[in-house]
Amino acid sequence: MRDDNCIFCKIANGDIPSKTIYEDENFRVILDLAPAAKGHALILPKNHYANLYELPDDTASKVMLLAKKMATQMTEKLQCDGFNLVQNNGEVAGQTVFHFHMHLIPRYKDDNQEIGWNPGNPSQEELEAIRKQIAE
Ligand code: AMP
Ligand code: ZN
Repeated sequence: MRDDNCIFCKIANGDIPSKTIYEDENFRVILDLAPAAKGHALILPKNHYANLYELPDDTASKVMLLAKKMATQMTEKLQCDGFNLVQNNGEVAGQTVFHFHMHLIPRYKDDNQEIGWNPGNPSQEELEAIRKQIAE
């Protein structure tokens, strides 16, 4: 379940050192080398899944439970003012490392960081067409 060419496989399994803030049998949580804010961390499964689509359901459930636990601990320890969970899939969505990871990003009132999008302004008809495309 590992990919020999994947850097996050090597980090998650301890073959490459990292600043680890949590580890269990399924996951390692490390500090991001290029943080958006102080404490920015990544949840890495020890098994290789390229993205959310490949993630087994039981691992997906565990990721969210771990994200909640880490966000709670980090908020308490870092005294941050808010928190973003970010998870990118595909190059167009900003994914640069193709081993599933969840970003844990503590936010601070003065962090001057932008994590977001330009809001659109669709009509009710456009929204309804999209709703149908997805749901029906
Ligand atoms: P994404 O753009 O969602 O694929 O996120 C990849 C993240 O991994 C970026 O925030 C990088 O700064 C981070 N990153 C890449 N290589 C390493 C590494 N060796 N150790 C820690 N973080 C890394
Ligand atoms: Zn991997």
